[in-house]
Amino acid sequence: MGLRAGINTYAYVKDNPESFNDPTGLLAASTWGCDGQGNYVTFVIDTDPCTSDCTKAHEQQHIADAKAKWGSELCRNKPKGYIPTAPEDALPGYNWAYKHATECRAYRVEDACLAKMEGKCGCKDAAHARRYSALEGIDSNCNGT
Ligand SMILES: [Zn+2]
Repeated sequence: MGLRAGINTYAYVKDNPESFNDPTGLLAASTWGCDGQGNYVTFVIDTDPCTSDCTKAHEQQHIADAKAKWGSELCRNKPKGYIPTAPEDALPGYNWAYKHATECRAYRVEDACLAKMEGKCGCKDAAHARRYSALEGIDSNCNGT
């Protein structure tokens, strides 16, 4: 993928291996990557106030897992929008087991967040609907990891 100025989120997300088992497609529109200043950052497209914080929490878990596994250096000298886990980089240890383990944790964090949002005024339906896909994500990623 080309690294142009600014972010072409769609192009990046298409190439994001972490969207490979995203049952909603909604999370595929959100991801994490580099902020252009050496730090990790979330890119959250979800604008629903009932669910966007939970989508962000999901992506933040991926950042926490990446930091735990590879440290904080993956974004050093990388442009804004760069995704360190993109396949072209063949990041050591970024394998099937890791992908499922990080998705498992991310969906659990997301689901716990959505469960709280269900109790917030005006968010019951939206948060509940999203919990179905979060639970699907848990189901498809947490077995055997
Ligand atoms: Zn994810």
